[in-house]
Amino acid sequence: MAESSKSIKEQFWDPVAGFGVTFRTMFRKVVTEQYPFEKLPTAPRFHGRHQLNRWPDGLEKCIGCELCAWACPADAIYVEGAGNSDDPDSEGRFSPGERYGAVYQINYLRCILCGLCIEACPTRALTMTNEYELADSTRESLIYEKSDLLAPLLPGMEQPPHAMLLGDDETDYYRGQYAAPAPGAGGTEEAPR
Ligand code: SF4
Ligand code: SF4
Repeated sequence: MAESSKSIKEQFWDPVAGFGVTFRTMFRKVVTEQYPFEKLPTAPRFHGRHQLNRWPDGLEKCIGCELCAWACPADAIYVEGAGNSDDPDSEGRFSPGERYGAVYQINYLRCILCGLCIEACPTRALTMTNEYELADSTRESLIYEKSDLLAPLLPGMEQPPHAMLLGDDETDYYRGQYAAPAPGAGGTEEAPR
C-alpha cells in the first residue's frame, strides 16, 4: 500500500513541485549579464592586461633586468635589455638608469594572469590593468609588443629618447623633488597592482 502511494506522489506531485520552482524563479531578479553589450566594472585589483609604466617626464620605468621573465611560471615574457646613453650620436636615453628594455613581449597565449611578474619587478615598471578583453583570432596578435604595453603619454610627458628632464640630479628625479611638470602629469600612470 505504501509502495503504491509513493508511486502516485512521484507521478503527480513531483512534476507539479518542479514547475513550482520554475514559477518562483520567474519573479526573481535576473542575474544574466548582457555581455558584450553591457560591460560591468571588474574588482579594482583584477589582473588584466599588463602595462609598462613611465616616469612623469615620459621616460620608461623598465630597466630591462628580465626579473619578470624569470619569475613567470608560464615562460610568457621575453625581454632584451640595452644600454642608455646621453651621447647625442647614440640611440639615446629611454629610461633614467643605465639600461632599458629594448625588446619587451608578453605572450597572452601562455599568460595565466597570475601576477608573479609584477611582484618581481623592482621598479614598478610592470603592473596589470583591469582590461580583460584579450581574445583575438590569430596567434600572432596575442603576442603583445612593447609598443602595445607602454602606458600612453600624458600631458607634460615627452616621447623617449630624451634626457632626464626633471630635478637637478638623480636624487631629485627619483624622489620627485621638483616642480610639478604640467597639469595631469604628476603621476606615473600606474595601473592597480
Ligand atoms: S601574469 Fe603570470 S603568467 Fe602572465 S606574464 Fe606575468 S608571471 Fe607570466
Ligand atoms: S618590467 Fe620590471 S622586472 Fe621586467 S625587465 Fe622591466 S624592470 Fe625588469
